[in-house]
Amino acid sequence: MKIIMLGAPGAGKGTQARMMTEKYEIPQISTGDIFRENIRNQTELGKKAKSYIDQGLLVPDELTLDLVLDRLSGEDCKDGYILDGFPRTIPQAEALTAALEEKGEKIDFAIDVEVPDDNIVQRMSGRRVCPKCGATYHIRYNMPEKEGLCDECGTELIQREDDSPKTVQKRLVVYHEQTQPLIDYYRRKGCLYAVDGTRSTDEVFQEICSVFG
Ligand code: AMP
Repeated sequence: MKIIMLGAPGAGKGTQARMMTEKYEIPQISTGDIFRENIRNQTELGKKAKSYIDQGLLVPDELTLDLVLDRLSGEDCKDGYILDGFPRTIPQAEALTAALEEKGEKIDFAIDVEVPDDNIVQRMSGRRVCPKCGATYHIRYNMPEKEGLCDECGTELIQREDDSPKTVQKRLVVYHEQTQPLIDYYRRKGCLYAVDGTRSTDEVFQEICSVFG
């Protein structure tokens, strides 16, 4: 199964992708996580990506594409994967389609997790993440068992710098301009499935699983 998670920043793509990874045993490939790891390790890519991420802008396609296509050729991707945060532009989607077509493959499901903008801003202010393993929580809707600590690895949770209200507004503008057109792109390919992302994490997960049948 090759799956793409679409939706605005903070719609819950990452949380759902993580749950799907456990159930279907295919890797979650999050470009945001890859960039953040590079930033933590102070790599050249990390330094370049940080300047865009901090402003709420997309990292340029030329820094993103090879990274992802290379990752998809990994042994652990042979039975499928969940792309979380990629593609985010039409050129990225076209490059992915072309790379898959070369191997006679295609995306099976593009899941659009729909959440209205005003809801997103509210959600992002309460989002907390684990800087070590990437697990995400919410101070009201998806609390860790022990306040402020990651359930998976016990690390102290933090708020992402780009989750500040001003940067979130910018990321939403960028989302509507550059990423939302992918919904039509995948609808035309016949693999788009929209789910209502405003419901509880478990309800959204049930709906996504029913899409796979
Ligand atoms: P995310 O964790 O998916 O919200 O990504 C955090 C940030 O990383 C985004 O706001 C972008 O700056 C950058 N980013 C993640 N994925 C991509 C992508 N596919 N193309 C360009 N920039 C990306």
